Amino acid sequence: MGTIRIEIKIIFSVIFFTLFLVGLQRYEITQHISEQFLSSKKDKNTLLLNTIAPVLGLNLSLGLNDANKEYLDQIVNQNSDMEGLILTASDGKTIYRYFKDPNKIMNKNCCAIDSSTKSIIDPITGEILATANAHFDDHEYQMMLKKNQITTYKIFSITLVLLALFLIFLKREFRFLEELTRNVLQYDPALNNFPMQQSPRTDEVGIIHNAIITMVEKIHTHSAILDSINHSLELKIQERTQELQNANRELKELTLTDPLTQLSNRRAFENYFNEIYQLAQRNRIEISVIICDIDHFKQINDTHGHTAGDNVLKELSTIMKNSLNRSSDFIARYGGEEFVIILYDTNTNDAKELCIKIQNNLKNFDNFDSNWGKVGEITMSYGISSIIPNEKNKSENLIASADMALYKAKNEGRNRIIIL
Ligand code: GH3
Ligand code: MG
Ligand code: MG
Repeated sequence: MGTIRIEIKIIFSVIFFTLFLVGLQRYEITQHISEQFLSSKKDKNTLLLNTIAPVLGLNLSLGLNDANKEYLDQIVNQNSDMEGLILTASDGKTIYRYFKDPNKIMNKNCCAIDSSTKSIIDPITGEILATANAHFDDHEYQMMLKKNQITTYKIFSITLVLLALFLIFLKREFRFLEELTRNVLQYDPALNNFPMQQSPRTDEVGIIHNAIITMVEKIHTHSAILDSINHSLELKIQERTQELQNANRELKELTLTDPLTQLSNRRAFENYFNEIYQLAQRNRIEISVIICDIDHFKQINDTHGHTAGDNVLKELSTIMKNSLNRSSDFIARYGGEEFVIILYDTNTNDAKELCIKIQNNLKNFDNFDSNWGKVGEITMSYGISSIIPNEKNKSENLIASADMALYKAKNEGRNRIIIL
């Protein structure tokens, strides 16, 4: 039953339906024939009654009851279809009564009896003298009816049983299809959760089922390919992002670094100074600013050349940077041969100490034997200004004050430290 093809299912359905129609038709036809049979029997007896009625009427009119009896006995005995006959006077009295087998009329369950009736009329006066009832046996008819009914019931029963079996089969089929549909709806390629395997069924349901399984397998394969493509794309994106981040960092460093000295540039100074100034203001911490400028630097350029000047700037920057004490000490090239140092949590004395340290370190520079030859002693002028920032002070004032101190140092003869 499991692998019945759809054509056979359709043929089965047509057979059931035809069988049902045949049963119905047969029931109707036999019903009709039986009724015809019964009525023809009735007609025959009615005809007989019609034929004998004038004779009976004449005999009754003349009071020849015995003649009627003899006549009727003859009629009943000669007519095989007739079981018996009763003649009832108009006052209800039975004039004549004869049955071939009296039991038949007495026992209703035993036999089927039907009758035809005819009024007996006086041929002279025209009045109704009696009523004749001719009884006949419809046993044959009843038997035929019963047989027909049994056959019809059999046909219907078989049809019903086959139909029930077919419905059970269809129900089973639908259960399989329901399960298939449920699994298809619940299927998630990411989880690969299709629980059914290829089916050995060769009918349409099996073909659809196996097609779905094949499709699921293909989806799984493609989703695995897509996953691996996605994975490699993600890796590439990560790589590119990393490269981009590195490039951005380098770019940022480039924009904040002075290319010649590799110190922070003016922009980096401004960023750092604003941040540290606010921090100092919040924490009520003293900060110091040193602005320093190489003395007579123009002469170095003029005497030894611009490249030598550049090298001096580089070397001097390294010395200055190495002179710083703390990680929070910050140095930037402020412009040309001018530098700025920010010292967080540092008073003027400590700032001055740092300037002296730089001065001492620069003394070694004098002995430095570089490619460009001896450049002689290099000195710097330093302007220092310190403050504990509050809301009233502006950060620019601190720079301006240090700048002023530097200007003073230059004016007073250079190579000195001025505090303002
Ligand atoms: P002062 O003591 O008054 O500061 O004298 P100075 O000669 O150092 O100052 P001035 O302002 O007269 O000259 C500064 C010189 O610094 C002029 C300029 O050519 C030079 N200079 C500025 N930036 C650079 C640079 O990047 N490389 C070189 N080689 N020279 C530079
Ligand atoms: Mg100078
Ligand atoms: Mg200068």
